[in-house]
Amino acid sequence: MSSKLPGFPTTIRYVSYRQTVEEYSALGKEIFLAKPEECPYCRKPGESCLIGHGFYSRYAFSLTGFVRIFIRVLKCKRTRRYVSLHPSFLLPYHQYLFSMVLEALRSRILDGRTMTESLRLAAGATGNGDPGADRPVYQHLQGWLGSLRTRGGVWVGLLGSFLQSFGELFVSPRPDEHAGNSSAAVLALFDRCVAASGLTSEAFHAQLFNRYGSSPFAALRSVPRTPP
Ligand SMILES: [Zn+2]
Repeated sequence: MSSKLPGFPTTIRYVSYRQTVEEYSALGKEIFLAKPEECPYCRKPGESCLIGHGFYSRYAFSLTGFVRIFIRVLKCKRTRRYVSLHPSFLLPYHQYLFSMVLEALRSRILDGRTMTESLRLAAGATGNGDPGADRPVYQHLQGWLGSLRTRGGVWVGLLGSFLQSFGELFVSPRPDEHAGNSSAAVLALFDRCVAASGLTSEAFHAQLFNRYGSSPFAALRSVPRTPP
């Protein structure tokens, strides 16, 4: 089993978390993430509506290896539906960390590095072998690139409106302008939004996901890996 998911549907809410996945993991169930300001179901203040409903465990894969983490689950008192609080270093339904996925895509698409170089860069100085030689990771990157290419385009307008809400200039591209290359447009716009927001990439991604229930990166195709 790669993770133990709850046997009921939950709505994911991202919470900005500044420490590393290893630090999060070390806290076990002692982890504290603030409740959402508003319950996503009944819209009452989260502090009074959402009550603790335990944890489920899952794995995160940071290329230094698998890390087991606990995800806190809350329950809406009025509708009896569930919310799970995800630290902002995660991506929904992915085991790879958000920062690693983003870095690999940036390196490949914006900087034009090779697949192997991009993976090595994303892994950082882990000293843990050569991730470029890791076939499953290589295949994942191919999958992420493919799905960003085919589905990324829908995010251009949304990221553009985010950028305008920060008071930045955004000129909507012509429909044909990014044909075949919406990936680069999405990544560049994402980086501009991060810079304009003054947030970290992870915190901005959390905000984006919480507003739209998805993101350009949450929509990437991924296949869970089995921990050893
Ligand atoms: Zn509620």
